[in-house]
Amino acid sequence: MTATATATKWVYLFHEGKADMKDLLGGKGAGLCEMTQASLPVPPGFTVTTAACNTYYQLGREFPPGLWDQVLAGIRYVEQQSGKKFGDAKNPLLVSVRSGAPVSMPGMMDTVLNLGLNQQTLQGLVQTSGGERFAYDAYRRFIQMFSKIVLDLPGDAFEEIIAERKRAVGATGDTDLKAADWKHIADAFKALVRRETRHDFPEDPYEQLRLSIRAVMESWNGRRAVDYRTYYHIAHDMGTAVNVVAMVFGNMDDNSGTGVAFTRDPSTGENILYGEYLMNAQGEDVVAGIRTPKKIAELARNNHGLFQEFAGIAQRLEQHYRDAQDMEFTIERGKLYMLQTRSAKRTAQAAVKMAVDMANEGLITKQEALLRIEPAQINQLLLPRFDDAARDAAVKQGRLLVTGLNASPGAASGKVVFHPDRAAELGQKGEKVILVRIETNPDDVHGMLNAQGVLTARGGATSHAAVVARGLGKPCVAGCDALDVDYEAKQCSVNGRVVHELEEISIDGATGQVFIGTLPTRAPTFEEQKELRTLLDWANEVKHLGVWANADTPEDARRAVAYGAEGVGLCRTEHMFFAEDRLPVVRQMILAAPEAAEAEDRVRRLEQNIGVATAEQRPALEKDLVAARERVKSSKAVKQYHDALEHLWQFQTQDFIGILRAMNGKPVIIRLLDPPLHEFLPKYEDLLVEVTELRVKGDTSAAFHAKEALLRTVEGMREANPMLGLRGCRLGLLYGAINEMQARAIMTAACDLKKEGMDPRPEIMVPLVGYLTELILVKDVVVKVSELVQQEKGVKVHYQVGTMIELPRAALIADQIAKEAEFFSFGTNDLTQTTLGISRDDAEGKFLLQYVTRGILQENPFQVLDRDGVGQLIKMGVEKGRKTRPDLHVGICGEHGGDPSSIEFCHGAGLNYVSCSPFRVPVARLAAAQAALNEGMAKQRPE
Ligand code: PEP
Ligand code: MG
Repeated sequence: MTATATATKWVYLFHEGKADMKDLLGGKGAGLCEMTQASLPVPPGFTVTTAACNTYYQLGREFPPGLWDQVLAGIRYVEQQSGKKFGDAKNPLLVSVRSGAPVSMPGMMDTVLNLGLNQQTLQGLVQTSGGERFAYDAYRRFIQMFSKIVLDLPGDAFEEIIAERKRAVGATGDTDLKAADWKHIADAFKALVRRETRHDFPEDPYEQLRLSIRAVMESWNGRRAVDYRTYYHIAHDMGTAVNVVAMVFGNMDDNSGTGVAFTRDPSTGENILYGEYLMNAQGEDVVAGIRTPKKIAELARNNHGLFQEFAGIAQRLEQHYRDAQDMEFTIERGKLYMLQTRSAKRTAQAAVKMAVDMANEGLITKQEALLRIEPAQINQLLLPRFDDAARDAAVKQGRLLVTGLNASPGAASGKVVFHPDRAAELGQKGEKVILVRIETNPDDVHGMLNAQGVLTARGGATSHAAVVARGLGKPCVAGCDALDVDYEAKQCSVNGRVVHELEEISIDGATGQVFIGTLPTRAPTFEEQKELRTLLDWANEVKHLGVWANADTPEDARRAVAYGAEGVGLCRTEHMFFAEDRLPVVRQMILAAPEAAEAEDRVRRLEQNIGVATAEQRPALEKDLVAARERVKSSKAVKQYHDALEHLWQFQTQDFIGILRAMNGKPVIIRLLDPPLHEFLPKYEDLLVEVTELRVKGDTSAAFHAKEALLRTVEGMREANPMLGLRGCRLGLLYGAINEMQARAIMTAACDLKKEGMDPRPEIMVPLVGYLTELILVKDVVVKVSELVQQEKGVKVHYQVGTMIELPRAALIADQIAKEAEFFSFGTNDLTQTTLGISRDDAEGKFLLQYVTRGILQENPFQVLDRDGVGQLIKMGVEKGRKTRPDLHVGICGEHGGDPSSIEFCHGAGLNYVSCSPFRVPVARLAAAQAALNEGMAKQRPE
């Protein structure tokens, strides 16, 4: 053994570790150490470090040198503390071997209980526990768990042996089995192990311990654990700690029990001790949901002293950790033991309420409250709920199937499926399914991931189904005792009312109700969320970034304001063009545009030429001009073009009145038309088929010729790369009348509102600018029209003209662009495409997501801003722009404006605001506050 190897400390006794050693001792180990040192009743034990697990893998799955000796020393310590002896036939020490990663991964790794039992120690357990039945039950549980986890044997064969024995003796439940039955079962288990592994079940407790520690380390890389980490973006190289703890038994007698409790309600956040327990049961019985447990409040009635002791400990732990705790406890013959404490997993609603309440109670500061909430969680609070009227109607119609436990909030409808594989299969095809199980276990997680919600017949609020669903943000109704689930027949029933696979049901995780059929949902209003509004008011006190919204309609704008938006950062005018009554008008405009624009352009060019022509050239040019003007006057296309634009102007003026009114006093950035025109026309391929079919049939009608003309226009507008083609400001430069119409509509709306006494603040934004000249030309048109409208209306409106920065060239010459642009808005959707050379539409469906799963990219760059590439362009754009115009107002309106990580970047880059979908405004407010707080803390930290 080398000197360094012996020097490494792989094992920490519970009185040696600290709460802040989570990385090394895992969450569970650090919690047990902290509770031991606070003199709480914790069974003695020790923790094998995560470093030992990582070294185990580095050494090719070998224990690191020195580890085993330290484990043996740990066992000696536990023997001393407990007064029992490992492997002793009279007074045997039994231990549990439990996983415990630095980040909580509930149920994803393995645990072995009752370790140390063999033929000799079993006799000792019979004596010390005072019961053969208990001892043999403990023994068979150990063999069963050890076989599954350490020897990797399938669990079903063991369950079958128990079921067979029950049939043989006419027992219905586990409690009907007697000592002799459990003995028989234990023997049958051992025979099964011998058959399957060709070895006897290991009798030596030290051998059992060595193999179990190894198996727990192995479970770090088990499929369940790896899938879970990948889903939650948890690093794969942290390793798990292994906790070896003296066993205490909640199933020793009726004076024993076990439970799980939270210092506050993890579903609602209410400040009450919340939990469940079962008397005469082992911990797994509560967590696995095999029996439906009692509420912790009943313990207060049944054993007041014990309840008081537990409630006192719970309060101390919450005060100590300054956060809600999730605790496991066991009562052995009337004595309370704490087995675990950790930060409680909670629903988004509970997280917000707890944070706000704790800040109001003075337990944490407002800043801490803001930092406690994961911004993405806030989205869940605005999740749809069932419409109350529809719910009442469903109850009256007799569609309420059953009511269970409200285990995880949210409302969902979908087709019933009974197997997780089926849920995954249908879910991945885009079908909405509800996974219905008797109870769930970690092997069902892939089905839960793909279901809209989960319904279980057994288990309480701390069962696997409830905990995992809450973590996934999916609704769950658990513990529906009246629900009879038949996997074989693929159906479930309540009092004879049968629901077959693929029938629709609706579950309400907030009330626990289950309905037949689907129910309409409604999005909760922000008004209803008292604590969230308080939290976001606090966010506004600390954030520097403005939070604006992308809104295309007055309704969007009103919602954005209700959520706290301080402006509209992007109004995409084209969205208004797609409305049913407008599309025909838009098409009319497009079909006439090329010919009309060409005719009008000719007049303009001749006018310009005449201005600089010599006396000899002039007569010929003037003659041409007369002819060109005549052509414009008599052109059907020109008439159609302007009629359509006039019609659209009326529509758009009303649109802008609605939005500017909703945003009264706040800036509204309206973007000129951006997408390629063919997006408004029928698809080329479809038209070609139609025209060809008509031609073959010999159709010569006017309708046929109109279709043919349409086909020619669509063909003329086809592009190989539309994303990089005739769009953005390029459109307005070719078809100037469109920009004129839009500017006129914006300013007409603004002037009319101003006259009403409102305070409209339009800002007109030019898309996809790459050259300064492009901006100059478009701005010229916009300003001329705007001034004219104000003159005509006789009012002045404050307006600005700015640009989007969506092309790398625009960022590179931002100093030039800022000479004309009065504001910048980074369009990071296009800027990401053009910087990366990746077309989003082509990439996301084909290779981009694979890039992420294969680790080539950490994140999808269309969701999370690519700081190294696109980010550099943004920083450069801001810096150069402000060199020219120091007070240049800069924002972002790409999808990244609602992503917390990208918002943090925008804060650091000195942007003035982020703009995102109205639904993401609350998330963005919190993320902006966190960015400011984190920056403040980083500045305070010593170098
Ligand atoms: C952008 O490119 O980021 C943007 C907001 O514009 P659009 O998504 O409409 O192209
Ligand atoms: Mg864009």
